[in-house]
Amino acid sequence: MKTKVAVIGAGLGGLCMGFHLQKAGIEDFVILERADRVGGTWRENTYPGCACDTPVVLYQFSFAPTLLWSHIFPRAAEVQKYTEQLADDFQLRPHLRLNEAAAQATWDEAAAHWRITTTKGEIIEAEVLVSALGQLNRPLLPDIAGRDSFAGPAFHSAQWNHSLDLAGKRVGVIGSAASAVQLIPEVAKVASHLTVFQRSPNWLLPRLDRPISDEEKALLLTEIHMAMLDREYVYKTVEHLLWKAFEWTPEGRAAYQKRALIHLEDQIADPKLREKLTPNYPIGCKRILFSDDFYPTLERPNVTLETAPISRITSTRVETAAGAKHECDVLVYATGFETTGWHWSVNIEGRNHQSLAAAWHDAPEAYLGIAVSGFPNFFMLYGPNTNLGHNTITFMLERQAEYIVQALTGMEEKQIAAMDPTPEAQALFNENLQQALAKTTWADPACHSWYKRPDGRITQNWSSHTRAYESATKTVNFTDYRLR
Ligand code: NAP
Repeated sequence: MKTKVAVIGAGLGGLCMGFHLQKAGIEDFVILERADRVGGTWRENTYPGCACDTPVVLYQFSFAPTLLWSHIFPRAAEVQKYTEQLADDFQLRPHLRLNEAAAQATWDEAAAHWRITTTKGEIIEAEVLVSALGQLNRPLLPDIAGRDSFAGPAFHSAQWNHSLDLAGKRVGVIGSAASAVQLIPEVAKVASHLTVFQRSPNWLLPRLDRPISDEEKALLLTEIHMAMLDREYVYKTVEHLLWKAFEWTPEGRAAYQKRALIHLEDQIADPKLREKLTPNYPIGCKRILFSDDFYPTLERPNVTLETAPISRITSTRVETAAGAKHECDVLVYATGFETTGWHWSVNIEGRNHQSLAAAWHDAPEAYLGIAVSGFPNFFMLYGPNTNLGHNTITFMLERQAEYIVQALTGMEEKQIAAMDPTPEAQALFNENLQQALAKTTWADPACHSWYKRPDGRITQNWSSHTRAYESATKTVNFTDYRLR
């Protein structure tokens, strides 16, 4: 088949793209989705306690506010429902091709279109290819000796085994970051014993979650200006105040570190346990966590916090370098995702058959995180250096979808068949970006996170305020592109 735009992925990014294409009057598009439902990361992450750690007033699209949320921090199932609603409310279902992934996408220079081979063996010719594949969908299992010898059930947090009843089981959770602090309190409620294997402690702030009352919902429905003010207030707070935790200034970080240490002291009475939970690196290096029940869970009699490095896993237990042996019936790997390698499942081949994987081998980079030199008519949502530590990704997705639509409209008006960023424009953008990133806490040599590669290059995060990204992406500068 032939289509104008082929979008890969029907998570929040792909759905946002679909909305903006339709808004611009572009109806000729398909959204390829490997799973049987929309939802992306919210379809995949179903572990107990899974929720969004961005407040809901921010974690929804400005064009699709709803009241389906029960709490200030939306539950995973609610966000999943939201994605289904987006597909319904904006008539995106006719464009969806579920259970069908893009396996190969090759740029045809002569025809100026992408030739996409799907996992169903179909060929789709698309003038424009948009990746909405995201950054956090490749579960990473740790490279620990003996991992495969464990005889009991073992699974990753993003591949939760719901058929398994954890009641009365001895459970080991490896990892103690964003996913772990949400699932650990829930597992501890049912397991006979829970051992948490923490490699690095995290900086953790109070979440201050609470239910959203019916009165509040009624108010938000009737007093639209108040709803807008509420959103703007929270947006500006995280945009300006929370960003301070990531700037490489001692003052900004000190305030947040102090708040986190007060939280730790408030919730953990035992000084030895507090010490184990106190990070020895600056706040903001890794994602700042928000939780009200993680620390109290560690004080439960059925929970052990193990901080010695894991030396090996046997058929029945996890052993540490300090000689401890923790017998476990079940192992949960809350060990995160493959990120900085950008190993997408689709092989994308641009001009002269250069693959994106090869182009990104040393340093994954893009122009504005959206387009890549040598890959004409290829655009991305949530591409390199567009992740955030302090604000909502939905804001970035909206800016990216708007930018892409503006590019498509411009191509139509200017009779452009193909466009890709010039190597110079891409290089300059990345030079400035890396200079700005060098002033953030992520660049600190003492900081290790899924945001940066072993060589120290930060490939995941945007370098400053989201307003700066908004201005950078407001207008498509066609002079930064090779056009034909
Ligand atoms: P993560 O932040 O990468 O954390 C992985 C955890 O596993 C860390 O504690 C890490 O320790 C540990 N680990 C990794 N390899 C290990 C090994 N070999 N031995 C022992 N421990 C090991 O992954 P995540 O918690 O799944 O979160 C990833 C991202 O997903 C978050 O940063 C966030 O952006 C997103 N997320 C969002 C939400 C939300 O509420 N919106 C919820 C969950 C996740 P080290 O710190 O020492 O590496």
